[in-house]
Amino acid sequence: MSGIEILYVFEPTVRAGQLEEWIAHFELSGAEATLQPLGDTPVIVTSEPAVVPVPPHLPEPVAVVRSSGGFRLGRRELRPAGTTVSIGSAQIGDGSISVIAGPCAVECGEQLDTTAGLVARYGAVGLRGGAFKPRTSPYAFQGLKWRGLELLAEARRKTGLPIVTEVVDTRHVGRVARVADALQIGARNMQNFELLWEVGAAGLPVVLKRGFGCTVDEVLAAAEYILTAGNDQVILCERGIRTHEHLTRFTLDISAVALMKQHSHLPVMVDPSHSTGLPALVEPVSMAGVAAGADALLVDVHARPEQALCDGGQALTPAGFRLLMGRLDMLAMGLGRRMSGAIDLDPRDATLRTTA
Ligand code: PEP
Ligand code: MN
Repeated sequence: MSGIEILYVFEPTVRAGQLEEWIAHFELSGAEATLQPLGDTPVIVTSEPAVVPVPPHLPEPVAVVRSSGGFRLGRRELRPAGTTVSIGSAQIGDGSISVIAGPCAVECGEQLDTTAGLVARYGAVGLRGGAFKPRTSPYAFQGLKWRGLELLAEARRKTGLPIVTEVVDTRHVGRVARVADALQIGARNMQNFELLWEVGAAGLPVVLKRGFGCTVDEVLAAAEYILTAGNDQVILCERGIRTHEHLTRFTLDISAVALMKQHSHLPVMVDPSHSTGLPALVEPVSMAGVAAGADALLVDVHARPEQALCDGGQALTPAGFRLLMGRLDMLAMGLGRRMSGAIDLDPRDATLRTTA
């Protein structure tokens, strides 16, 4: 189907037999109709441009939505209240502010465990860390790969934090999915469509990062690859785009945060670390992202940024992260929202004196 489509959205409780009757009803009136569920929400996609009257014995749709341009299942009208994505015990998109933090790359057990323990204490609800690193240069540290994944699983066991980690290759998806709690698609792979199909089918939540040369339309279309594979657990991540500005690593597109929230029911995340490349900008950009409506932040934190093998120049220290969490907590109050993790801001904390 192409051009204008009409989407008929039903309550999750509608029975398969009733949906089949609806499809038969559309086909009788000469339209093409297919069932395309969005998670547990049944959606019938039809080519019929006219809205068909409800047959008296069939359940009414809860919404009838016009769609075009390849953006279908992500439309906000399908779920006006928004989608909540569960990563372990973290609920992203439920109105609270969730922070996922950790090193850019997993480097060794000690580095990961120290960082993970501290970000958990300061209120992160998930641990980020790349085991497979897509690097601009083939000579740069490429990640610990499968060993990195084992270390992430170990850090989860110690801290209870669910793991978000990048998958870069279709051949790895099954094996990474057996360990990770959420799969990250990096900016460089946002339009790797085979990879999108695979992660859609893997059944885990997906953090889909916006390509730095991609428009908002293109991010929303990329998300459809995952949604149409039957997986509605997708988070859209704004991580900065390339502009003529060169004092920051990329330019965080703050209007994209609000735009994606308006157009889509999917939760939106902001990555203040990769977008700015500057620890001093992480706090202001995080605050702006949350004020623009972001549901979550993805923050680089390293116990010793100066020794990091990847992106150390943009990582917060644990002390910097703690300050960020305190500021976000105050912002949350002002916005009538709450932080989803419990923040331990004990001023006697000895770790802060050694890691500041
Ligand atoms: C990352 O988050 O580790 C990363 C590589 O980010 P991006 O894909 O946004 O560059
Ligand atoms: Mn990085």
